[in-house]
Formats: sequence, structure tokens, C-alpha cells
Amino acid sequence: MSFENRYAFFQGEIVPIEQAKVSIMTAAFNYGTGIFEGIRAYWNDEHEQLYLFRLQEHLERFFRNCRILLLDVPYTEQQLGDVAVELLRKEAFKTDVYVRPLAYKATCAVGVRLHDLETEVSMFSVPFGKYIDKPGGISVMVSSWRRLEDNTIPARGKITGAYVNAALAKTEAHLNGLDDALLLCQDGRVSEGSAANLFIVRHGNLITPPVTDDILEGITRATLMGLAVEMGVPVEERPIDRTELYVADEAFLCGTAMEVTPIVSVEHRTISDGKPGPITSRLATRYEALARGREGVRPEWHTPVYEG
Ligand code: PMP
Repeated sequence: MSFENRYAFFQGEIVPIEQAKVSIMTAAFNYGTGIFEGIRAYWNDEHEQLYLFRLQEHLERFFRNCRILLLDVPYTEQQLGDVAVELLRKEAFKTDVYVRPLAYKATCAVGVRLHDLETEVSMFSVPFGKYIDKPGGISVMVSSWRRLEDNTIPARGKITGAYVNAALAKTEAHLNGLDDALLLCQDGRVSEGSAANLFIVRHGNLITPPVTDDILEGITRATLMGLAVEMGVPVEERPIDRTELYVADEAFLCGTAMEVTPIVSVEHRTISDGKPGPITSRLATRYEALARGREGVRPEWHTPVYEG
């Protein structure tokens, strides 16, 4: 990877990315005690503009989650939003990018704890296309790994250490020749994908597990629920049984990185005719137009990076 013209926000400043380095003694590096976010910015050719999508909602979630790990962020939401804009401006991207804010226990110390440790915040960005580039849809398995339970490590926290659970599931799927994995809660109900929320369609209803079923409270999930209501598709938040995946009319994963990714097979059972379903496809099209700022609606969800 070339680091030419690449920068990061590190220890309060925007610096060339090769200077943004932490010690191997850093508490978060040893114990997984960080909270992160993933934000997309979409390049809009017509407007010659890069738009951060739902920046405010991502920062709000970031600050809320930092409370879980007693991370005392020394910036305001507004300041971190300005940092995101300044960073992307400096990198002068004219392509879709992904921005990664991270708050972490920065003290160099041995000893597992959350208290009496300094908090640092970093941010970097990378050019970013499709997360899984399969327009015809993906094949998934149900992981043999269970989703972390709220009283173990809360999934809603977007805690760095918690992503060991996601990595175990994702790699299990990969080693089995599949694109991704769905994880079951400890009680056997379906929670979400390794790094994305899940929706299924049954009898014309869009169904997704509730926020109490060990999921990340996804921003894309919330956006899509709103779009579905606008499209007249009834939305249900309720627990999903494993075998409902097998009999679903449609299924898809969604997230900032994943956007809307249709699922066409679960555990070797083809979903309907093995093609992305009609409700999934309509939602994907609407989401793409909205996220890219083509619809001209919800201007407050699009933060322009460049001036003028
Ligand atoms: N679940 C998990 C475990 C994730 O890592 C992500 C990606 N952030 C999502 C769901 C989707 O969340 P969002 O739409 O806010 O990106």
C-alpha cells in the first residue's frame, strides 16, 4: 500500500500516516479496549463533491459507546466531525472512502482494567469500493461460533476486542468456501452477520432482530427501516429463528461497508429462486441513491468535504 499523501489524526494532530504509530505496550493493543466507527464518504461526480454519509449519527453512536468502556474522549462531536472533514480534504480523495475513528486506552501499562488509563482518539481513511463484490448475492453459513452476549462483551459497543468473535465467524465461512457467516445468539436465535445487520423478508414483511438480540445498532439498518416504511413495506423487529432463514422469501445483510448485500443461499439452501429478491433490490437501489446524495433529500445526512 502506498502511503503517499496519506494522513491520519493522531494524538491531537493530522500527521503523515507513517507517523501515526502506537507502542506495543499500549493497553488497547494488548487488551482490545477500544471503540471504533466505520463511516463512508461517497464521491459524487455530478457535484464534484465527497459526502460523508450520516456523519453525525456515527459520531453520536461513537460517543455513546465510549461510555461502555469508560473512554473519556477529549473532543466534542463537532470537533471530531471537523477532523473527519479536514482529514479527507487533506488527502484530496475523489473516490469513495471509508473513515475509521477509534477511541482507545492509550496508556502504556500492564494490567487489565478500564480505569486510570488515558484515552486517545485516532482517525484514518482508506479508498473503499464494494465490501463483497457479488451483485448476484452471497452464500452464507450459520457459524459454529455464537454471538457474544450482552453480559459478556456487548455487541452494541463496537468494541475492538469483540471483533475476535466476528473474525472467527468470517474466517470459518471463508475456509468453508462461503462469503460470510450469520451468528446465533446464545439462546439459538439469529443475531447478525460478522460485520453487518440481517434482514429477511417473509410474506411481504421486512423482519430484523431487535436491538436486544446481541446486534450492533446499525445506522444502515435504521436507514433501511425508514426507506421500507416510505416504500409501504411493513417492518417488524422481532427475534428470528434459524430455520426462518431457510424458508425466507428474501434475505440480505446491510451495513456502512456492506451497504445492501443480498443473500441468495443459507447453509446450502437456495433462497427463493437464488436471485436477489424484489424488496431487497428496491431497497438496495433506493439506499444507493440516498447514500450517494443523488436523491437530493435529507441534506443533513450528507456532509460535504470540499469547499465551494
Ligand atoms: N453489525 C456489526 C457487527 C458491524 O460491525 C456493523 C458495521 N459497522 C454493522 C452491524 C452495521 O452497522 P452500520 O450500518 O452502522 O455500519
